[in-house]
Amino acid sequence: MTEAGEQEGAGSPVRTEADLGSAPRVEPRGAPRRAAAVAAAVLGALLVVVVAAVTPWHPLSGGRAAADPALDFTREQIARNERFSAAMDGPAYAGLAAGLVVVLVLGLTPWGARLLGRVVRRPSPSDTRPAPWRWGLRLIAVALVLSALTQLVALPFGAWSESVLRRYGLSTQGWGSWFGDRLTGFGVSLVIWIVALLGLHLLIRRFPRHWWAGAAVGGFLLVTAVSYAYPVVVEPLFNSFTSMPAGPLRTDLLRMARADGVPVSDVLVADASKRTTELNAYVSGFGSTRRIVVYDTLLASQSPKEVELVVAHELGHAKRNDVLTGTLVGGLGVATGACVLYLVMTSPRLLRRAGVRSAADPRSTALLLAAVTVLAQAAAPAQNLVSRHIEARADVHSLELTRDPATFAAMQRSLSLRNLDDLSPSPFAYALWNTHPSGPERIAMGRAWARLHHVAVPPPSVRP
Ligand SMILES: [Zn+2]
Repeated sequence: MTEAGEQEGAGSPVRTEADLGSAPRVEPRGAPRRAAAVAAAVLGALLVVVVAAVTPWHPLSGGRAAADPALDFTREQIARNERFSAAMDGPAYAGLAAGLVVVLVLGLTPWGARLLGRVVRRPSPSDTRPAPWRWGLRLIAVALVLSALTQLVALPFGAWSESVLRRYGLSTQGWGSWFGDRLTGFGVSLVIWIVALLGLHLLIRRFPRHWWAGAAVGGFLLVTAVSYAYPVVVEPLFNSFTSMPAGPLRTDLLRMARADGVPVSDVLVADASKRTTELNAYVSGFGSTRRIVVYDTLLASQSPKEVELVVAHELGHAKRNDVLTGTLVGGLGVATGACVLYLVMTSPRLLRRAGVRSAADPRSTALLLAAVTVLAQAAAPAQNLVSRHIEARADVHSLELTRDPATFAAMQRSLSLRNLDDLSPSPFAYALWNTHPSGPERIAMGRAWARLHHVAVPPPSVRP
């Protein structure tokens, strides 16, 4: 039995703050922490090299594309989209700040351990060596409390942004179904948290000094498994998917995919209209779970040529295996993060702040949650930066496939207007939220592509 296993397995029957003071010191120091730090540095460097190598930094070689919203949007349209973005800023920033404050307070003060102590401390005379199921139940209880708490904190801000979406006619959902979505999301994140926590604590018990290595490999595998299973396990919880009905559009789309050399056996339509009026399409999964999905809102409102352009963009993602690459890069990011987490969870200073003695204590999960949240938030701008370049490459692909920059520009314009996208986001908002280039940037790239390929350049849609 390992050191931490002893400590956790022996599990003093009533774990009060005072008991914990006399618990054996188990947090690894010295060599194991140095090994984890080296692993974090090596994986981090590998991550940077891989991201630099796989990101299409110049999706349109030789093309220049300066965005100008005034070319294609009237002053009123620009102002309306700006009003909507400003209204969404409130819940977005306040929700982000509230979520961070709550997890940081729980993780970096003894409050989190105290709160979790209420659910994991079960005074019982027979509890001198908790059975594995009891140990598992404690971790499940911890996951439940922390997931519920973070959901509850996010709830009012989610309701606030939903009310803005309604005011602007973007949401078609009732509050009952909105709440149902939240509950489903909570269930999904809870399952992921439970799997991750049980796995992590198995490793901590088994390898108290070197669990970072197992956590890095396990994190990588978990990301890969979730990304693979997501389209068949999670997406159906939120939407129904049907094959696009037989007809000229379906035939054209499958023909285009074949001509593009992308094996696509079906195009799925999601019943997005039960929730939103927004237009969208996406590719998810990889290997046997890969699918191209278009929103029913897109089919209902756009011309076949415009739908074809959207699907051509998605084929660009499929052809380049963007989901698989993103999954592997994400897995590498999580593996790097696992080594950093080990350093956090074995830091005597941070453990002391969190009011626990060791990562093996289930109550240390509050510190873990704080670290995971901060790492994920810190990575978001870099993820968005890479995502925007990948999206631009898919746009270029759709132009190459259709050679129709006029429809491309019209499509981007109607996407921006329907979805009320911010047409000239501030650099801060752009870095924090934009996974795609802005509408005017995409249209500008369409024009640049046309100039490069000597195809008629789409004229401005708005006369000055
Ligand atoms: Zn895309």
